[in-house]
Amino acid sequence: MLSAPVRQWGRAIGDLLYPRPCAVCGAAAGKAFAHLCWDCSAEIDFLQAPMCARCGEPVAGRVDGAFECHLCCAQPRHFEKARSAARYDAAAREMVRRFKYEQGLWLRNDLVSLLYACIDTHYDEVSLDLVVPVPLHPVKRRTRGYNQSEVLAAGLAKRLGLPCARRALRRVRFTSTQTRLTARQRADNVRGAFSARLPARFRQRHLLLVDDVMTTGATVSECSRCLLAAGAAGVWVVTVARG
Ligand SMILES: [Zn+2]
Ligand SMILES: [Zn+2]
Repeated sequence: MLSAPVRQWGRAIGDLLYPRPCAVCGAAAGKAFAHLCWDCSAEIDFLQAPMCARCGEPVAGRVDGAFECHLCCAQPRHFEKARSAARYDAAAREMVRRFKYEQGLWLRNDLVSLLYACIDTHYDEVSLDLVVPVPLHPVKRRTRGYNQSEVLAAGLAKRLGLPCARRALRRVRFTSTQTRLTARQRADNVRGAFSARLPARFRQRHLLLVDDVMTTGATVSECSRCLLAAGAAGVWVVTVARG
């Protein structure tokens, strides 16, 4: 086993000889991300205030004080707060797509860096105890070979120095793709799709729920509802991208 400095030197020399290509355009990767060039990383649309205090959806224009968006006012939200690093667009979209659908596990560290930056920006006042991934249905997991949210949650937990409860949530019902559904239909589609079980030592704790992409928030809200029913004190959500 090589020591960490030796590994780092090896990597640095390797990068000099064979610069890693950008996952989006193929140019040499920059320094901020291992697999993204400067130009593509500059195109990442990081989500910024003003945003809905609950779900983190940004709004255009000037807003005074805390507010909740129309979606959060229209339906119950079981998470305390949800935040996403970037708009599901440009480089963020391409990285998530390759990570999820093209076995692009080599992108995991870059995506975890986006999640970590998002936590650092939006959650510095919250003390979190445990990281939980949104589960995939076992059939889908078998086909893909991994659950992308679990890979992200494990990487993020390691960086945060927190435990990761990979099996706290299970998907007990197969749900059809939500792409063409409205917010209300998505909420109906995921109802009863999950079950949660928290070991006694993780009850009454503050959980961080991790997913790759959040759209209307129906899935993470339903997961949060199950986790609260299983004894969680509160659920905070972080995703790489917002659709
Ligand atoms: Zn690029
Ligand atoms: Zn909202």
